[in-house]
Amino acid sequence: MTDRLFPPLPAACGAFWAGRWHQPDAVLEVTDPENGRVVGRAGDCTAADVDEAVRAVADAVLAGPPWPTWQRREALHRAAAMLGERAPAFADLLSREGCKPIRDARREVQRAIETVRLSAEQADRLEGRTLPFGDTPRGEGRLGWYTREPVGVVAAITPFNDPLNLVAHKVAPALMGGNGVVLKPAEQTPLVALALIELLLDAGVPADRVAVLPGRGATVGAALVAHPRVDLVSFTGGYATGNAIAATAGAKKTMMELGGNGTVVVLPDADVRRAARAVVDGAFGNAGQNCLSVQRVFVAREVADELVELVVQHTTEVVVGSKADERTDVGPLIDEVSAERVASWVDEAVEGGAAVLAGGKRDGTYYWPTVLTSVPADARVLTDEVFGPVVSVEPFDSVDAVVTEINSLEYGLQAGVFGRDLDAALGVAQRLRVGAVMINDTGDFRIDAMPFGGGKRSGVGREGVPFAVEAMTEPKIIAIHRA
Ligand code: NAD
Repeated sequence: MTDRLFPPLPAACGAFWAGRWHQPDAVLEVTDPENGRVVGRAGDCTAADVDEAVRAVADAVLAGPPWPTWQRREALHRAAAMLGERAPAFADLLSREGCKPIRDARREVQRAIETVRLSAEQADRLEGRTLPFGDTPRGEGRLGWYTREPVGVVAAITPFNDPLNLVAHKVAPALMGGNGVVLKPAEQTPLVALALIELLLDAGVPADRVAVLPGRGATVGAALVAHPRVDLVSFTGGYATGNAIAATAGAKKTMMELGGNGTVVVLPDADVRRAARAVVDGAFGNAGQNCLSVQRVFVAREVADELVELVVQHTTEVVVGSKADERTDVGPLIDEVSAERVASWVDEAVEGGAAVLAGGKRDGTYYWPTVLTSVPADARVLTDEVFGPVVSVEPFDSVDAVVTEINSLEYGLQAGVFGRDLDAALGVAQRLRVGAVMINDTGDFRIDAMPFGGGKRSGVGREGVPFAVEAMTEPKIIAIHRA
């Protein structure tokens, strides 16, 4: 095999399908958002490449012998161990092509190891059961059961913000479910995805069951979604893209993990210090480029001054800097257009009367962690997904009004509620229309084994490793009619 990523990172790292590496004529130049330097190159694939890749994977899954479950488990366990051995190189690459400071990049690699290991452990999700044919006169004389079978070909389309773990979250459960998988990583961060596929091949994943095609969303992504031999589209990304995918996917099964606008409710009896710390961590990690990022904080008027003071203090202590620096907490946004958009949304809020309590500054791709208050109700920093390091804090007098406001938002991914009286906190949690509520934590918390997703503009269906394996398989019944 040529063009191996480890070692070393090749100058040109193409694409993989039909059992071998390809070097498409066109390349995607991958640059470091911090300084514009070229990190590497990946293939810029075409719709024709997608067609070849999907057909090859579909033929392998349908015509080839099934991949035994024990071999899937062993290959994924091996892959998790190998990712552990190669963790420093993965973290370095992830940090350079993406937005994460090196400490966060290391954490993401550790999470990806867990995701792959957890996927290996999902064999019990593939079990079926016997069916109660004897329960109805029409079923008499029959014996039957169902097993869980692969859906076939999974198209995995991923965003730039967690460029390794979100790829692992789709590819590893798809393989554990016995599927073939064609991956389209984000155009800004394809290298670490290519590296993961290379590692999976080294770990023993059959080469004809997996493909990775870097390229543009409108070309590679759209061709994958429209391809008749793709059985399931698993997409993580923005709402607008999710909508476009839903329109072309037709009757294909789709799983969508979309955006959020992370709400937090701080009740009057909350531990305010703990809440302030968690809000700052949840709002500014990965420069706010996280679907779970804390964006709107509703704080009981009695404790609002104290919370705001602590949030502002912690925010000014956040270290903004180079991703390679061990001390850095917040690095760049993915590109200058994104930083300009975030700045313009803050400007718009300020023109409408918002006060900037910290931050509000831009330099190139960097935007400083920003705390706003008195934000007008129609400002986009409140109604839309900021996907940048901006948090708005507003005092409230009526918890009922807060619940109504959160439930009227267009997104509904995860939320947090802080309060010492767990009865009261639970009362709020049960009324919020979101996929998960964390009590005494922000909605920025998740583990990879929990069902993950939301409603409204935040998505369709649930991922999270065990639930993804289930969604990527289907029950198949076999019944015997005795003579
Ligand atoms: P994006 O929607 O712009 O791109 C995501 C992927 O879709 C990329 O690979 C892109 O090339 C591809 N794509 C673009 N157009 C396409 C099309 N027409 N057909 C098929 N594929 C297409 O998102 P992004 O900017 O990379 O990521 C940010 C978004 O992702 C945010 O909204 C964020 O909230 C969301 N996100 C959600 C979760 C979650 O689990 N809910 C996790 C991370 C990020």
